Amino acid sequence: MDRKLTCIVCPLGCSMVAEVENGKVLSVSGNTCPRGKAYAESECINPQRVVTSTVRCQDGSMLSVKTDRAIPKEKMAECMEIIASARPQLPIFVGDVIIKDVFGSDIIATQNRS
Ligand code: SF4
Repeated sequence: MDRKLTCIVCPLGCSMVAEVENGKVLSVSGNTCPRGKAYAESECINPQRVVTSTVRCQDGSMLSVKTDRAIPKEKMAECMEIIASARPQLPIFVGDVIIKDVFGSDIIATQNRS
């Protein structure tokens, strides 16, 4: 079965086709570089995403956060619930870990709040 994909690794957005059989990627075409092939293989076998969200701090203000690496796409909803339950205390700086080890990723702050 052929699966059409758009590579999201860089702004070029190459259109690719992955040939998938029995859960295995047999070939990838249309990619301009090896990163596209790696993305297509991951997307077909084990899709992953970086999650961005916000948490409410103890003072009531909102803080933007994200996973520090991609997590399995199927775990995104559960990850969002875990993030929503956090109530970090200020001050917080960009890169501070808000929650450790959520599906193999730390949830980190993407803004300063004092
Ligand atoms: S295949 Fe390579 S060049 Fe094309 S979008 Fe992906 S990363 Fe960019």
